Amino acid sequence: MKVLVYGSGQLAQMMCLAAVPLGIQVRAVDVTTRNVVDPISKEVLDTSLDDAINESDALTVEFEHVPEDLLEQASSSGKLYPGIDAILAGADRVREKQVLEELAVKNSDHLIITDVSQLHEAIDSLGEKLILKASRDGYDGYGQWRLKSKNELASLCQELACLDLSKVPLIAEKMVPFDRELSLLGARNSQGEFVFYPLAENLHHQGQLHVSVAPAPQVTGSLIVQAQSAFKLLADKFEYVGVMAVEFFQVGDELLVNEIAPRVHNSGHWSMQGADTSQFENHMRAITGLPLGNANAKYKSAMINIIGCDDYSTDLLSINRCHLHLYGKSVRPKRKMGHINLTGESYAEIAELMTTLAKYLPMAYFPKLLDEADKLSELN
Ligand code: ATP
Ligand code: MG
Repeated sequence: MKVLVYGSGQLAQMMCLAAVPLGIQVRAVDVTTRNVVDPISKEVLDTSLDDAINESDALTVEFEHVPEDLLEQASSSGKLYPGIDAILAGADRVREKQVLEELAVKNSDHLIITDVSQLHEAIDSLGEKLILKASRDGYDGYGQWRLKSKNELASLCQELACLDLSKVPLIAEKMVPFDRELSLLGARNSQGEFVFYPLAENLHHQGQLHVSVAPAPQVTGSLIVQAQSAFKLLADKFEYVGVMAVEFFQVGDELLVNEIAPRVHNSGHWSMQGADTSQFENHMRAITGLPLGNANAKYKSAMINIIGCDDYSTDLLSINRCHLHLYGKSVRPKRKMGHINLTGESYAEIAELMTTLAKYLPMAYFPKLLDEADKLSELN
């Protein structure tokens, strides 16, 4: 079996690493140069994109922002999983909101902004605490602006003046006073069967994911039902094949969808050590027509992103049940360089491991680690 992944970053790398034991060969497309590359070494391979498409049994994406002509070409091969509609909904927040509304899936109150003058209207109907998101090409909190009060509106309008909102609208969202952020990852196969990972709790800092804990503590049956129902509605609508992630805000006992990722997702990286079958393996299984693997958690897990920093000792590997996954990138501010997975039998054990881990890491880059360890230490 051969799989071609659009995008050649860490997600393609981890899909490739999961595919090898299944006898699946993975190649990647650098969507900037359009070269076919090795997803591990990034070496350019002596194959044209057309040939690589023809030779592959399945095509997939590691991120949603693949140029549309490439996606169209991939889709016309009849081998793109998930399909183009799911990918485009993940890539364009206007489409994403339309799908959520159409399926009556609860999400944050919002307005589509095609001209800055509409921001007054947005404040009138949504309140003055807003988050504005570019409808395309945003990730990790890039392409977002926060309005904390009406007084900031004039300077925000100036900042937005350089954007052509008629071409790329903004979504103005009410700032949701959420209790926490959760995500659900699951896989759907072409027969419409599902496996679900347990919900993960996600801690963000400046719009970027820093820590995930899975299974999320204090999850009620109602939260699981709400999350899986929303997921199923969306995945069935797209006739989705592969792993998908849905991010939620928990407000009281209610879940609101924040966004959909039509791909493997950072908040599922814990599954590499913590679940019976990792999200990467399940994605490969789904898109190549293999049976889906059990997605249950084997342990309690914490996943800690290494962001914008390479100044730590790999002696951290001396910690019991600590695993390092590096992406082979040079360091840049806010760049995801790798992640660390910790597993334990209880949250208290995870908390202890996190506290030990903190001794090996420069804390300025890990602002959520010790607070989260404190919280988990109170649980069983
Ligand atoms: P990523 O690609 O990392 O998931 P992103 O850039 O696509 O991020 P979002 O997930 O929409 O963007 O937002 C990033 C974070 O900003 C959220 O996880 C949340 O912490 C915060 N955020 C986004 N929208 C809202 C909102 N309406 N109310 C409150 N906080 C929000
Ligand atoms: Mg997000």
